[in-house]
Amino acid sequence: MGFDYAPAPESRAIVDIAPSYGLFIDGEFREAADGKVFKTVAPATEEVLSEVAQAGEEDVDAAVAAARRAFASWSALPGAERGKYLFRIARVLQERSRELAVLETLDNGKPIKETRDVDLPQVAAHFFYYAGWADKLAHAGYGPSPRPLGVAGQVIPWNFPLLMLAWKIAPALATGNTVVLKPAETTPLSALFFADVCRRAGLPKGVVNIVTGDGRTGAALVAHPDVNKVAFTGSTGVGKQIARTVAGTSKKLTLELGGKGANIVFDDAPVDQAVEGIVNGIFFNQGQVCCAGSRLLVQESVRDEVLDALKRRLGTLRLGDPLDKNTDIGAINSAEQLARITALAETGEAEGAERWSPACELPSSGYWFAPTLFTGVSQAHTIARDEIFGPVLSVLTFRTPDEAVAKANNTPYGLSAGIWTEKGSRILAMASKLRAGVVWANTFNKFDPTSPFGGYKESGFGREGGRHGLEAYLDV
Ligand code: NAD
Ligand code: MG
Repeated sequence: MGFDYAPAPESRAIVDIAPSYGLFIDGEFREAADGKVFKTVAPATEEVLSEVAQAGEEDVDAAVAAARRAFASWSALPGAERGKYLFRIARVLQERSRELAVLETLDNGKPIKETRDVDLPQVAAHFFYYAGWADKLAHAGYGPSPRPLGVAGQVIPWNFPLLMLAWKIAPALATGNTVVLKPAETTPLSALFFADVCRRAGLPKGVVNIVTGDGRTGAALVAHPDVNKVAFTGSTGVGKQIARTVAGTSKKLTLELGGKGANIVFDDAPVDQAVEGIVNGIFFNQGQVCCAGSRLLVQESVRDEVLDALKRRLGTLRLGDPLDKNTDIGAINSAEQLARITALAETGEAEGAERWSPACELPSSGYWFAPTLFTGVSQAHTIARDEIFGPVLSVLTFRTPDEAVAKANNTPYGLSAGIWTEKGSRILAMASKLRAGVVWANTFNKFDPTSPFGGYKESGFGREGGRHGLEAYLDV
């Protein structure tokens, strides 16, 4: 008999959420020119958290103009001075990380365990890391005095709202660019909190501008003629649209799009460790992760052993209140995303794959999806090819390393892969054949600001993180 968990909720009283927020342009919050607003909800409860301005073309234009004005003096600052601002931002983020973790959990639906222990520490680390580069750009391998590009228009998704903001803003500022960033429409609150962090850090006005809104706002930003650099993370469909908008202009572009990562388990892998990696790979952040290990490729001889252990482990996952410190699986970010996941899982069943979930009670309000795995999946199944972006694992088998490579690479994507084996030589041999931007060995979803991240094929192009991440914001 096991012990029951007592509720362990983090207090939401530690963060203040205003009833409404404006756009952050030129160092001030202001309403949209046409007064339009939209609501952001807590996906775990459907409670309305706040009302946020919907930026139109006029507002995007004002934000880009503010960033352009700020560019002259910001880019002329000695790198060491820019670095001081970034260090200050990093420290303020650390000081306020508890508030930000609660805010992110409320607006996104992800467990507090993850925002507290993964998102927020990574956010601060990213600013600290690029703060360190600001005065060392001459030694980054891009010439003696690499120049910034100008105004960066950045559009980010809802799965890691503040972390994607950090990935975008930290390298842009370190290299002397100014930015206009558009957060996703379902998760605008942490970016607006960040706007206030910039003010507290004394960042000169106009260096960072935050315009909230939906895809129309993003499209206006990307198309703005005075933007020099476009950085986008999100769906492959929108990424292709953006590539078309930017084609034929002098704008520099980086795209971080979807994925269908293979997590490959060989017969010599330590099973319990591999199971933890499989769980982390597809159930971390409810599987709403572009580099998720959404395809499990397990060697046929250990298939039953691995699946038995995996199912046992899934039975222990705790789904529910994201603010509870014991929660493993939180809410799906939106009703639309839940509908997409539900439809793809139904397609999996309709095409003949076998669906399984542990016994798991779903809350009566909010957007929820039980951890799910599909066996009997073949390469032709939709759930083996399309990105589901939810807590759904497709299990396939292989017999030889060559077959594992062929199956892993048989995807239009190429973002991530995992290898589980005891043999170092096999790890190296496999990693060199996998067409994936990041290959994890005997671990998964490990992140570090020093390490470049990005895709092949339809997962996009360009790298974020590390020294490589500077290149996207330099005129090289
Ligand atoms: P999306 O691509 O529509 O949205 C991402 C961001 O782009 C948001 O800020 C959105 O407002 C903005 N946007 C939408 N249309 C735009 C346009 N025409 N021009 C400029 N910006 C635009 O993604 P989504 O609808 O939120 O999610 C759909 C699917 O995308 C998911 O199921 C998943 O497969 C994928 N996705 C991938 C990532 C990732 O990290 N790679 C993140 C989120 C979603
Ligand atoms: Mg929300």
